[in-house]
Amino acid sequence: MKRILVTGGAGFIGSHLCERLLNEGNEVICLDNLFSSSKDKIIPFLKLPYFEFVRQDVTFPYFAEVDEIYNLACPASPVHYQHDAIQTIKTSVMGAINMLGLAKRVNAKVLQASTSEVYGDPVVHPQTEDYWGNVNPIGIRSCYDEGKRCAESLFVNYHQQNNVGIKIIRIFNTYGPRMELNDGRVVSNFILQALKGENITIYGDGKQSRSFQYVDDLVEGMLRMMGTSDDFTGPVNIGNPIEFTMLELAQLVLEMTSSKSEIIHLPLPKDDPVQRQPNIDLAKKMLNNWEPKVQLKEGLQKTIEYFDQMLKQI
Ligand code: NAD
Ligand code: UDP
Repeated sequence: MKRILVTGGAGFIGSHLCERLLNEGNEVICLDNLFSSSKDKIIPFLKLPYFEFVRQDVTFPYFAEVDEIYNLACPASPVHYQHDAIQTIKTSVMGAINMLGLAKRVNAKVLQASTSEVYGDPVVHPQTEDYWGNVNPIGIRSCYDEGKRCAESLFVNYHQQNNVGIKIIRIFNTYGPRMELNDGRVVSNFILQALKGENITIYGDGKQSRSFQYVDDLVEGMLRMMGTSDDFTGPVNIGNPIEFTMLELAQLVLEMTSSKSEIIHLPLPKDDPVQRQPNIDLAKKMLNNWEPKVQLKEGLQKTIEYFDQMLKQI
């Protein structure tokens, strides 16, 4: 049995990761300050003897004897991370320092949940890990993008200077059950709007693209990355390479929910990336032929069912 710390473990991805780690017989400590989540997602785990919840901000030092750390603490939706930009930067940077310091002290392996946002508004398409990105360092997304870029730098330097065992994954847009109702990201917004018969809000002309990954595929990739040999540190892209425009996503959601909602266009937020698609050759090669198994329609179906249930409970 391994003892594993998951920061941000009460969040959307974190709760799926905690569940998978518990199911595999590990002891899990979930550290979260519930900034962009609630206890709801982890309530079922609280009665389990090998699950512990620590309500703490990752910007403060934390100590526990653990074997592995998954560092996910950070709001991920633009609405949430722009709400308190300074706290977002602190979370990424000081959170990384605290978790790397802990990993160094207890000789644990530490995995950083980095992001496709390190590529900014990419001019290389699809994005490979050797692309350095195109990020506006003073724009409205910079608190998140630059925080995550700085965290990657910290990880690499703790590895080189202090021999800490690190793993960096760059996660592309991920969706699924357990996203918050107020998350604000596109998949949950469109599904909720369609189910409630409200207007579907497309920002800009809707021709911008994203590649959507179902959460189970990501969790599988995270576990495989943690299990790679010590000399493979990443960064490695984890995402589903099939690309959709926001107009295509809206049409698909409308069709699958048989909704009468209408599409409206709202202003495009500043610095909104035009396109995004991962090249996953490295992940396939290094993570034992990992590739996404759940395609958009199947994943959307599960997510629609989840939100439908949630709305009935309100
Ligand atoms: P989320 O907002 O649902 O989860 C983040 C969790 O971190 C929340 O539970 C939140 O309360 C917690 N948190 C935030 N600040 C904290 C702090 N200072 N101290 C302790 N806990 C804190 O988002 P998510 O989609 O589950 O994302 C999880 C991680 O994956 C994030 O690091 C995010 O950057 C990364 N990521 C997600 C995506 C995606 O598409 N979902 C894409 C790229 C990267
Ligand atoms: N978007 C949209 N309507 C919404 C929410 C988002 O058209 O209600 C667009 C947004 O402008 C972006 C894309 O959907 O182009 C993905 O946005 P999201 O916030 O999900 O993630 P990110 O921009 O960080 O990839």
